[in-house]
Amino acid sequence: MSAVATHDTSLDAFRADTRAWLEAHCPAEMRQPVRNEADVCWGGKRFRFQSDAQRAWMERMGERGWTVPTWPREYGGGGLTHPQAAILREEMAALKCRPPLQSFGIWMLGPALLKYGSEAQKRHVLPQIARGEIRWCQGYSEPNAGSDLASLATRAEVHDDHFVVTGQKIWTSYADEADWIFCLVRTDNAKKHTGISFVLIDMTSPGVSTKPIKLISGKSPFCETFFDHVKVPRANLVGELNAGWTIAKYLLTHEREMIGAIGERATPKPLGRHAAEKLGRDESGRLSDGVLRAEIARFEVDEAAFRAWMRMASEQARAGEAIGALSSALKYYGAELNKRRWELMVAVGGADALEWEGERSQDGAAVRTWLRTKANSIEGGTSEVQLNVVAKRILGLPGA
Ligand SMILES: Cc1cc2nc3c(=O)[nH]c(=O)nc-3n(C[C@H](O)[C@H](O)[C@H](O)COP(=O)(O)OP(=O)(O)OC[C@H]3O[C@@H](n4cnc5c(N)ncnc54)[C@H](O)[C@@H]3O)c2cc1C
Repeated sequence: MSAVATHDTSLDAFRADTRAWLEAHCPAEMRQPVRNEADVCWGGKRFRFQSDAQRAWMERMGERGWTVPTWPREYGGGGLTHPQAAILREEMAALKCRPPLQSFGIWMLGPALLKYGSEAQKRHVLPQIARGEIRWCQGYSEPNAGSDLASLATRAEVHDDHFVVTGQKIWTSYADEADWIFCLVRTDNAKKHTGISFVLIDMTSPGVSTKPIKLISGKSPFCETFFDHVKVPRANLVGELNAGWTIAKYLLTHEREMIGAIGERATPKPLGRHAAEKLGRDESGRLSDGVLRAEIARFEVDEAAFRAWMRMASEQARAGEAIGALSSALKYYGAELNKRRWELMVAVGGADALEWEGERSQDGAAVRTWLRTKANSIEGGTSEVQLNVVAKRILGLPGA
């Protein structure tokens, strides 16, 4: 008996409709590669849109739920199946459409609320994330709680219908631009992991303040965040009281997966081609600098292997399998790969790549990106800590 290949014609129709809709609704200006941070749309009440086209693109995609294509429709998503979402990605790539919106709400809080939020929280918070109306930041780290996150001390006193939060967070990315913060707070001093709760706090509440911290890249993307007797409604507790650690860990797997994906983020041109244009070719057409040639070749092979690995992990996630500790392995390797990528970019560019200001270098885009990548192996959990997770949970090695 011969096998009959099945072909889902409804997906063909979906593809045709999607392409037609994107062609009609994605402004020409939004079909250019993202050149720098200003081209990225984060949404939220304080976001300054670069152009009307950037705003229109976010709003049109948000209305359709396609900023979060697989979230359920009742929570502001597109309600797409995974095959449909893959088609949307392919059609956006074919038309070179920029992502309409990126946010910690989409990458981190959304998945956590879908799993642990109350129905009221999902219906209220998720559509605001999908439409880019509210920007979220993450209040996990504290001056004495980083890798050992469960040592956190920001206190939430429990009252009948509200909490009173007092303490300090640190390294809060974009806290000064965010509207709300998802925060880990201590609600029981006697227990370490089981004395932590997960709460949502409005950044405009009386008693919340932020202070920017400057990085070596010259930018200030993150802040110290202070809470001075901040009143937070009890309804803003996610999950049960003192059960926030489970939610925190689940959210971290999504954060690590998101950061790991930077390993896939290409430079504007493939590295080998960029190097050949910059440094010249030998008589057989190869990059003339033999040492860099070998390093770039090694990098490109590792990068291709990482892409294949990321695809495997996303297939696994799509099939409904939790990726759990694998997110630590992806985060570790993606971060290290991105650091190598930008080391090579700067090595290829020579002194030009170190230019800090000026139109030619787009205000030092290369050198600032290179310096920023140094943080990749710290943010979302350090490389050493990810290796500990891999050793214990994937390789099954005994703990210290
Ligand atoms: C760019 C950037 C953005 C960030 N954004 C946010 C944010 O938005 N919200 C937020 O809450 N936090 C944020 N962070 C903080 C980040 O999560 C922490 O910096 C990180 O978890 C490490 O904590 P730490 O800085 O306190 O370092 P520490 O935990 O003090 O670590 C110091 C050193 O000790 C090593 N170390 C610690 N414990 C172990 C161990 N058990 N085994 C081996 N080595 C160990 C570490 O690897 C590191 O090298 C951000 C950080 C960066 C760099």
